[in-house]
Parts: sequence; C-alpha cells; structure tokens
Amino acid sequence: MSVIKKQDFIDSVESALQYISYYHPKDFIDALYQAYLKEENPAAKDAIGQILINSRMCAEGKRPVCQDTGIVTAFVKIGMDVQWDSDLSIQEMVDEGVRRAYSNPDNPLRASIVKNPVGPRVNTKDNTPAVVHMETVIGDKVEVIVAAKGGGSENKTKFVMLNPNDSIVDWVLKTVPTMGAGWCPPGMLGLGIGGTAEKAMVMAKESLMDPVDIQDLRDKGAETSVEKLRLELMDKVNELGIGAQGLGGLTTVLDIKIKDCPTHAASLPVAMIPNCAATRHAHFSLDGRGPNFIEPPSLDDWPVIEGSDKSQLKNVDLNKITQQEIDSWNPGDSLLLNGKILTGRDAAHKKIKDLVDSGQPLPEGVDFEGRFIYYVGPVDPVRDEVVGPAGPTTSTRMDKYSEMMLSDKSEGGMGLMGMIGKSERGDIALKSIAKHKSVYLMAVGGAAYLVSKAIKESRVVAFEELGMEAIYEFTVKDMPVTVAVDTKGDSVHKSGPALWKIKIQDNTNK
Ligand code: SF4
Repeated sequence: MSVIKKQDFIDSVESALQYISYYHPKDFIDALYQAYLKEENPAAKDAIGQILINSRMCAEGKRPVCQDTGIVTAFVKIGMDVQWDSDLSIQEMVDEGVRRAYSNPDNPLRASIVKNPVGPRVNTKDNTPAVVHMETVIGDKVEVIVAAKGGGSENKTKFVMLNPNDSIVDWVLKTVPTMGAGWCPPGMLGLGIGGTAEKAMVMAKESLMDPVDIQDLRDKGAETSVEKLRLELMDKVNELGIGAQGLGGLTTVLDIKIKDCPTHAASLPVAMIPNCAATRHAHFSLDGRGPNFIEPPSLDDWPVIEGSDKSQLKNVDLNKITQQEIDSWNPGDSLLLNGKILTGRDAAHKKIKDLVDSGQPLPEGVDFEGRFIYYVGPVDPVRDEVVGPAGPTTSTRMDKYSEMMLSDKSEGGMGLMGMIGKSERGDIALKSIAKHKSVYLMAVGGAAYLVSKAIKESRVVAFEELGMEAIYEFTVKDMPVTVAVDTKGDSVHKSGPALWKIKIQDNTNK
C-alpha cells in the first residue's frame, strides 16, 4: 500500500507542466532534425530549422516553445493499492498544479481556457480546468502523463464512423489535406480505432503520448496489422507533399501513432488527432516516497542549426512600404520585416466588426490604413523581455473579417495593406486579397520565442481588457516571414503541396 500525499501530487504536476512548456521531448527533436536534414524544399527546410532553433532557445531560456501554451490534458492511472492523503479530488489536485504552473513568475504561461464555451467565453485566467482521464489499475503506484495541447492542432481533430469494410487509409488520405496547415506540421497523427465514438477519441489522444519510434518499427519490420497500417500511413501521408507549415515538402508527419480496441461488429470508429510542432508531454510516477521532478535534459540533445543566410533575404521597411514593392513579391519569397506592425486576433476583430456594424468609430489611435496586422496573442513578458513568445495564430479564423479589414476607408473598411499569420487562407480571404491587391505573409507556427526576439518595442494600442488578444503595436527588426499569398491571390499553400506531391511521385516512380 502506498500513500500519495496531496502536496507531492500537486508539486509534481506543476513541475511537469513547467518542464514541457520549454523542453521538447528528445525523440521529437531527433525526428525533427532527421526531417530537417532530409528536406529538399528550401522554404520547408527553413521552417523546420526555425522550429529547431526556437526549441533550443526555449530550452536554454526556459521560456515556452509556443505562445499557445495549451489546454492541459492529464492521464492518471491509479493503482488499486494506493491510498490518498488529500482533502482534494484528483481533478482538483491536477487543477491546482495547473494553476501554479501557469502563474509561475519566472515563466508565466498563457492562460487560454474560457469557462463558458457557449456564451461570453470568459477566460478563467489560470488555465484551469484541465481535462483529466482516470483509470484504476493493478498496483501501488500512480502513473501520470500531462500534456499541453495547442488549439491550432486540436481544432483539426477528425472523427468518422466507417463501415467495417471501408479503408482507413483512404479516409486518412482524403481527410489530411482538408486539415490545412493550421496544425503546424510537421508533427504526428494519433489514431484511435475501435471501441465507441468517445473511446476512439480518447485512444487517439493517448496514442500521441507515446514516443516517436516509427524508424525503429521500420527497422524491425511490421508484424501486426496495426504496425503495417502505421508504416503504410506514414509513407502515404508524406507522399501528399503537404510539408512543413503546408509549404510543400518531404515531411508532413514524423510518426503515425495508433491505439485500437475491440468494437461492435457493425462499426469502425476512427478518430484522428494531430500533434503539432509544439509536442508537449511528460510522464512520471508516484509511489508515496515524495514528489517526482523530471530530470532536465542535456542541451547536447539539441542540434545546432545555422539558420538561413540573412543576406539572401529581402529586407522590407514597413514604415516606407509601397504598393509597387508588395506587387513584386511572389509566393514562397522569404522576407525580413522591419518597422511597425499592429496586432489583433479573434476577439479584437469581433470588436472592430461590432463597432463598424453599430456605426461607432475605432478607439482613438487605432488606424490600420496602409499597415500590416499580425495575428498573435503573446505570452506575458518576464525580466528584460519586450514581449513573451509571440508566434502566429491560425489566420483562417480571420478570413471572414478580411473584406472589412482590406477595403478602403472610403468604402467603410480599414484600409489594411497586409496580414501576417500562419496556415493557409480560405477562398473568401484569397478573393479579398486579390481584389484589394493586398498580401498575406506567414511566420512559422511553433517558433514563437524566436519570433519574439525580433520584436524590439511593444505597446498596447486598444482593447487592453482583452489581455493577450488586445491590439498592440510592435516595432520589429528582421522578423522572418514567407510570402504565402501574393497580390494576385496566388497561395503557396495551394501551389507548394501540389508541386511537391508530383515531385515525390516522380521520385518514387524512378
Ligand atoms: S505549434 Fe502551432 S498548433 Fe501547436 S500550439 Fe503552437 S501555434 Fe498552436
């Protein structure tokens, strides 16, 4: 019989959550580095390089790998011979660990949880509650996995009830391209197959807690039908050519994870959850002998990446930018931005729309005319930081506002010149971009700390009450971005994967 003390459990959860905010798992780093070495598309290689550089910087600086520090999911396996010395439930103890980890003064993490998803969506401010899955098992230990999942990848979750004889491979290959790049590939796909609808979902999430080991499986050879399916999906998903950040390239997934269980004879439930560039999970066990603090990794675990040669990139002065200059940019061009940009994401756009609809002016000092907007919700700064990790959020969510933002002021719009975010734009935004000869630039999702180092000044301009969703003005120096949509509305997220799919097919057929 083990006695697990409340404080030991809470301290261990708190420590593990801080740990995963700045340390990628070693297996993930190793797989990402292999993908970097192999990548042939320069834009995709550069994106993977930025994620690796960011990862090392975060490990050194103990700051979050991504500005979206995630919703916490915990898997708690409780031995039947365990006794608890606690006046809190397990959910309450996990939440207390979350609360402390996310408000750590040395490394505060962004609180992203809203308490009422239907309604005013008020932020709980401490990132609680966590999603906790519990299971009782034989033994006298408590095994805990904590993960922090970003919204961008969680939002791309898919589920289907196939007929028993339908092809899982066909469904995955048809579905992955519909997920776009908002899940910040390269990452992993977790599949839960069998059981019931909810069981398949939990298995898909839990499968992502296993290490990246597809190469070991390839070396050993597949023996079971699940192992064969993993290898087949791994090859065929990468042959789609989607590539890092959806730019087109050789690696879209670093691994395919699968958990399965018995199901009804009439059913084939399949859940698929992607894990992004910010793969974050930690595992520990408690046996009554005190808290478990995971050993920090060695910095030697991270490869040293040179990064792109800045002299080869186009320097852009945003304070003097002209229409002629943005007309000269092509999809896939790499730029270094300098000057002032405004920020705004979901809540700020909604507020602007509400003001426009009700005929009210924007707050004093907010003027988007001729400016660029960056879709971002940064982490709060600490010590001498201007801003905490500040990577891009998924731009697709702002598509419905693009016409309002890009139209001329004379037409009641905002007169915005360009946008910066991550992932592809939908057809409605592409149409507006072409109509207004605007442009859409892409920063690397999952390189948030690296991007934040390009931000030299920051001030809140409006909607301070929105916290991380307020409108800021950033002064940036050498902020790396890629032209994702040019002034004609041509998108690298359409042309890149199409091109690389053909290249990969041609190589396979040689
Ligand atoms: S890497 Fe991308 S999907 Fe993952 S948490 Fe960060 S922004 Fe979200």
